[in-house]
Amino acid sequence: MQPTEMTHFKITSTGTLIFQRVLQIVCIHFCLLSGFIVSVSAQPAIHPQLIAIDPGHGGTDTGAASLDGTLEKDVVLSLARRLETYLTPDYPTLLTRTDDYRVPLADRVSLANHADASVFISLHTAGSRRMQHQGTVIFCHHPVDQLRPAPPATGTADGIQSWDTLQEPHRSDSLALAGYLRDALQSLGFPLPVRLSDIASPLLSAADMPAVIIEVGHLTHPGDRALLIRTATADRIAGALAEGITAFLVDNGNAAP
Ligand SMILES: [Zn+2]
Repeated sequence: MQPTEMTHFKITSTGTLIFQRVLQIVCIHFCLLSGFIVSVSAQPAIHPQLIAIDPGHGGTDTGAASLDGTLEKDVVLSLARRLETYLTPDYPTLLTRTDDYRVPLADRVSLANHADASVFISLHTAGSRRMQHQGTVIFCHHPVDQLRPAPPATGTADGIQSWDTLQEPHRSDSLALAGYLRDALQSLGFPLPVRLSDIASPLLSAADMPAVIIEVGHLTHPGDRALLIRTATADRIAGALAEGITAFLVDNGNAAP
């Protein structure tokens, strides 16, 4: 409301004066309230759900490599940075590594657990000795590890739960998260088939939140590699991952962006 509007009222009696005073007070409160609302809405909405992004490999652990020497550890760190950029307007993020160094698997998931992250997404690219192999695979933890002895029973006398079993109560949510990520990636229309799979992973088994490992394309496939290293397409892939994470959080009753 503009101050000049106040001058339209003449002071012709005590009643009119009181009316004008009331109007002034209402106007001032309205303006203050309007200013407050504007200042609040101008702030980006930051939600408490922390997103843990785990760029795979690092340091001497290079991961997969393409024929031209492009390394998985570099591609996934770049993708993690892009994903962080897409998420930070709405959500806080945590990267388990921020440069080219090695981080043990246990430390990666420990970071996410201790920070009480709401989602854990471990970024990788696949590699194959056959260049024809292409596409993305999103892995969730398989509850039965055939290669190792069964994990110890959940809980101990002092109430401490084994980290090997922390993922079990989150399995259905992890499957849902994987589905949202798949749908978002497929919506890009890239020639990048996306499928879901299970894996017996010590990384995922110890994650105390919805968690997936995603191998985004095959670095050894020329087409997939091109999508991963070109700025425009890498940005779109990161944007799709952010969309998938956001859709999962919103549809599962967490705060909407
Ligand atoms: Zn990898």
